[in-house]
Amino acid sequence: MKIAFIGLGNMGGPMAKNLLKAGHEVMAVDLNTQAVAELVEAGASAGSADDAAQCEVVVSMLPAGRHVAGLYLGETGLLAKLAEGALVIDSSTIDAATAKKVHEAARVAGIDFVDAPVSGGTAGAAAGTLTFIVGGSDQAFERAKPVLDAMGANIFHAGGDGAGQVAKICNNMLLSVLMAGTCESLKLGMAHGLDPKVLSDIMKVSSGGNWVLEKYNPVPGVMENAPASKGYQGGFMSQLMSKDLELAMGAAGEVAAPVPMGALARSLYQMHNKKGNGTKDFSSLLALFEE
Ligand code: NAD
Repeated sequence: MKIAFIGLGNMGGPMAKNLLKAGHEVMAVDLNTQAVAELVEAGASAGSADDAAQCEVVVSMLPAGRHVAGLYLGETGLLAKLAEGALVIDSSTIDAATAKKVHEAARVAGIDFVDAPVSGGTAGAAAGTLTFIVGGSDQAFERAKPVLDAMGANIFHAGGDGAGQVAKICNNMLLSVLMAGTCESLKLGMAHGLDPKVLSDIMKVSSGGNWVLEKYNPVPGVMENAPASKGYQGGFMSQLMSKDLELAMGAAGEVAAPVPMGALARSLYQMHNKKGNGTKDFSSLLALFEE
């Protein structure tokens, strides 16, 4: 299959490489020429968003809703240029309202579209073990599944248009709460002289065990491959977690759902980002508990 991959950042770069490994022909598209060059070295061709219109399948992995709307919608958007019958997969985490607009425009253009945000972080993207949370029609889901299988281990059909995005922000709101709680617990133990590795090993198999302790320890040196041990670089940026928490607050407002823990985590990330930490990995929140 000829697949255009648009957005080759921390997540998109390794995801596109897994499509190459699975034997697909990949066209690499990004505003950052260095990201494109890295994919070309791995066997992709380079292209622009306009060139992507010649492909049968398009996958996008962009920062936020405005980038996705800018790429696909309007008279000059990609949906207006793709051939009828094309398949489009957007794996960015964005607001469900924008995802629904893209679904509607794709339907009018005769294009199968799924919103398919992911969970699993940069390590999951590199290993091809991401969880894809898909929203869209049964037909679009069945067509997208073989493409997603090359990049993920768990592919869920969450429901109709935008359902993938709703499930994803529920997950990330919970993740932000787990990260904040894990940082605060580890810092409390460390302030009492405990070794963070020993404390993490204890809590990991006790009732406080969670994904952050298992896969993403926020204390530098505790977990060799975690972003915390790499200067908080190359993971999931704090500013993207803030974006997801804003999406969660918006979704909560729409249905008057009480989300006190999510609201607190949102404020913690806002404080953290205002101190200049927005581009660091979201586990750098640990610093907030040192001051
Ligand atoms: P990133 O900032 O590293 O990558 C985004 C890429 O998109 C960049 O290379 C940028 O140059 C490119 N880009 C932006 N606008 C473009 C355009 N109009 N055309 C072409 N390229 C464009 O971000 P990321 O960490 O890879 O995250 C991407 C998405 O995945 C976000 O929605 C994020 O919330 C979500 N996500 C990230 C993680 C993670 O651990 N990093 C995990 C799950 C989901």
